[in-house]
Amino acid sequence: MTEENLRAVLRVDEKTKTFTPIAHNLSAEKAEAKVNELKSKDAQAQVLAQTSRHKGRSVKSCELCKNAAENLSQKAATGLVEEEDTEPAAGSQ
Ligand SMILES: [Zn+2]
Repeated sequence: MTEENLRAVLRVDEKTKTFTPIAHNLSAEKAEAKVNELKSKDAQAQVLAQTSRHKGRSVKSCELCKNAAENLSQKAATGLVEEEDTEPAAGSQ
């Protein structure tokens, strides 16, 4: 078993900048499929590499995912997440 390659997928709410874990213990392929599934519903998703297999069977009650989601939400709220919109908007005047 290659547990180092497990992924967790979080849904990103663009309005509130909050992250909600929706799946964990996924293979890279399954994580990608999940992201694509969300994208097809116009939802943003974030994939996280897990350092180990999460024990909780349900992602909803998984403490590790919850903590990761809270971390990401906090970073998003305080603007620490790298974004690509740091360039000045060209041609706005
Ligand atoms: Zn988890």
